[in-house]
Amino acid sequence: MAHNSKYKQLVFTVKDRCRVCYTCVRECPVKAIKIINGQAEVISERCIGCGNCVRVCSQEAKVYLKLTDEVTGLLKSGKPVAACLAPSFAAEFHSVGDYRRLVGMVRALGFTYVTEVAFGADMVARSYRQKYDDGTQKGVISSDCPAIVYYVEHFQPDLIDHLAPYVSPMVAASRYLKHRYGSELEVVFIGPCIAKKAESDDIHYALTFCELREMFAKAGINPEDVEPSEFDPPHAARGAIFPVSHGMLQNMEIADDLTRVDVVVAEGRRNFMDALNEYSKGTLKVNHLELLCCEGCIMGPGMSKNGNKYHRRALVSAYAEEKMKKLNVEEWENEMECAKEIDLCNSFVARDRRLVSPSNDKVAEVLFQMGKNDPSDYLNCGACGYDSCIEHAIAIVQGLAENEMCLPYSIEKLHQSVEKLNISNRELNKAREALKQSEKLAHMGQLSAGIAHELNNPLGVITMYSNLILDETTDENLKGDLQLIVEQTERCRKIVGGLLNFARKNQVRLAETHLEKFITRSLQSVVVPQSVEIRLDVDLKDPYLFMDADQMMQVFNNLEKNAIEAMPNGGVLSLKLRDKPNEVIVSVSDTGTGIAKENIEKLFTPFFTTKEVGKGTGLGLPLCYGIVKMHKGKITVHSNAEPKDGPLGTSFVITLPRNPEN
Ligand code: ADP
Ligand code: MG
Repeated sequence: MAHNSKYKQLVFTVKDRCRVCYTCVRECPVKAIKIINGQAEVISERCIGCGNCVRVCSQEAKVYLKLTDEVTGLLKSGKPVAACLAPSFAAEFHSVGDYRRLVGMVRALGFTYVTEVAFGADMVARSYRQKYDDGTQKGVISSDCPAIVYYVEHFQPDLIDHLAPYVSPMVAASRYLKHRYGSELEVVFIGPCIAKKAESDDIHYALTFCELREMFAKAGINPEDVEPSEFDPPHAARGAIFPVSHGMLQNMEIADDLTRVDVVVAEGRRNFMDALNEYSKGTLKVNHLELLCCEGCIMGPGMSKNGNKYHRRALVSAYAEEKMKKLNVEEWENEMECAKEIDLCNSFVARDRRLVSPSNDKVAEVLFQMGKNDPSDYLNCGACGYDSCIEHAIAIVQGLAENEMCLPYSIEKLHQSVEKLNISNRELNKAREALKQSEKLAHMGQLSAGIAHELNNPLGVITMYSNLILDETTDENLKGDLQLIVEQTERCRKIVGGLLNFARKNQVRLAETHLEKFITRSLQSVVVPQSVEIRLDVDLKDPYLFMDADQMMQVFNNLEKNAIEAMPNGGVLSLKLRDKPNEVIVSVSDTGTGIAKENIEKLFTPFFTTKEVGKGTGLGLPLCYGIVKMHKGKITVHSNAEPKDGPLGTSFVITLPRNPEN
C-alpha cells in the first residue's frame, strides 16, 4: 500500500492472541484479512491502513508498526527534528491540562521544534476553497485521509481523477516547516492515524498518540515536571477544527447546512464506501465529497481506546475556539502569504487491487459444500465476518476465507461429530460387553477344566471297577444295578470329556480343507429324521481354507444336532456357504422353535441347557465357541421364538479366517 517506500506492511496479527472471532474480518472495509487454517492474517497489498481491525480487536491481536525506537534514534542523531502534532491531541491529551504542558513534554523528549499540523490544514483548506470557488472541477473527493486515498487507488480506481489534487495537511505542514526552518529539518508527525505512517516521504516518521505516550513513559516525562511552552510557529487558525467531522468544511468556511446540496460528508467505514459507490454509480451528484475513514480523526486507531466521540469533539472545538480567540491575525496572514510558495499539488496512481469475481457455478459449489443448497439456507447471519453467505462464498473461492468460518456449518459439523462419537461409544459398549462375556467364559473354562481333570481319574477307577464287578457277578439283580452304574459313569465321563474339550488349551492343527466336502461330511455324520429336509446352498469363489477339521467337525455336528433337536415336528435345516477373499462364512439355520430372547445371552455358558435331564449337557455351544475362537473366527446367533415377530427359527453364523495364521 505504501507510497512511502520504507514500509510494506502497517498492521500485523499476533497469532497467539488471535481467538478467531472474525471481528476484524467484519470490520475491515476492504477485506484485507485472510483466514487460513483458522488464523487471521493481514494481506498487506490490500490493507488501506485504516486500523479498524486494531481498534476493534478486544484481544489486542492486531498491532501496527511501532516506530518509537526509530524516532528515539533520530532525536539522538543531533539533526534538527520537528514534532508536528495533529490537532486531535486536544482530545487525546485532555488530562494533561493546558496544551502548553503537552508541548513542554514533547520538547522534553528532545524535539527541536514542536509545531501544529493544523497550519497545514489552513494551507490545504485555502486550496480546496479556491478550487471550490472557481468551479473548474466538478466532483472532488477530499484526499486528506490517507486511507480514503488508498481505497480509491486500489478499489475504486475509476474515481482516481476525482481525488482532490492536493497533499494532506500533514504534508503541507511538513513542506512549510522545511521551507521555514531549513531543508535539513526532519519532521515527525504525531497523530491519531496509522495510515499516515506510509503516506508520504515528506515525513520522516509518523507516530500515533499511543506511541507518544509510550515514549513519555519510557523517558519518565510527566506533565507536572515540565516547563509549559507555546507551539513553535507557524500558528494555526481554523485548521485546529479539522479532526472532527465536517472539520474541513468549517476550515474552508463553507457553511454546511441542509440547503447545501453540492457537499456531502461521509465518515466511518460503511458510510464512506456507500458514498463512493453511489458517487461512482452516479446516484450521488455532488461538488465536494468530504470523506473520512474513521468517524473523524478523533476516533482514529492511534488514539487511546474507549474514547467518547462527542466528548472528544467538544474538546477539539473548545481548543479551536480558544485558538481563534487569541490568534494574531496579522502574523497568521503573513505566514499564509509565505506559504503560498509551497507546492501543494498531488497526483494519484490507480493500482487496481480488486479481485476477479468468481463464476456463479464456483460460488454455488462452495455454498453447496457449506450445506446451503438453496436461498432459504442463506442465513446471512454475519458470524463469519461477511455481510452475506454469498459474499463469504466468493471470499472462499478467492482464497480469503474458509468454510469453517460459517457458524451454522460448523454447528452442523459438530452435531455430526457428536453423532459419530455416540455411535462409536455404542460400539465400544458392545465390544466391552462381548469382552466381559468372553472373559466369563474363559474363567468358566478354567474352572471346568480343573474340575474335569480332577474328576477324570476317579471316574476312570469307578468305570473300571464297576465293569470288573459286572463281568464277575452272577447275581442278576445286582447285574441290573451295576449296568446302571456303568451307564451313568459312562455319561459322567462324556460330560467330563466335553468339559475338557471346552476348556482345552491344546493347539489347533491347521490343514487345508475343502469346505463344501467338509460340510457335506459333517451332515452325513448326524442322524437326520425323515421329517427334516436338508438344504445345502454353496456359493464359494474359493472352497479352500485352513482349519482343524476334527475340531470343526465337532462344531458343525453340535450345531446340526441342536438344529434338528429344535425341530421335533420336522422342518428345514439349511447350510449356506459363502466367502470373501480372506474369510468364509457358514450359516446353519433351522425352522425350529427358536430361542427365547432371555436365553440368547446364556447360550455359550457351560451347562446351560433347556433340554431335559439326561438329554442335554449344555456343553455343545461352549465347545463350539471355544473352537471357533481358537480359529480366530466368530460365532453369532439370530433367532426368533415369537410367532408374532415372523417365522420361527434359529440361525448360527460362523465366520472363519481363510487362514488363521495370517
Ligand atoms: P444342549 O444341546 O446340550 O442343550 P447346547 O450348548 O448345544 O447344549 O445348547 C444349549 C441350549 O441352547 C439348548 O438347550 C437349547 O435351549 C438352545 N439351542 C441351541 N441351539 C438351538 C437351536 N438351533 N434352536 C433352538 N434352541 C437351541
Ligand atoms: Mg447341543
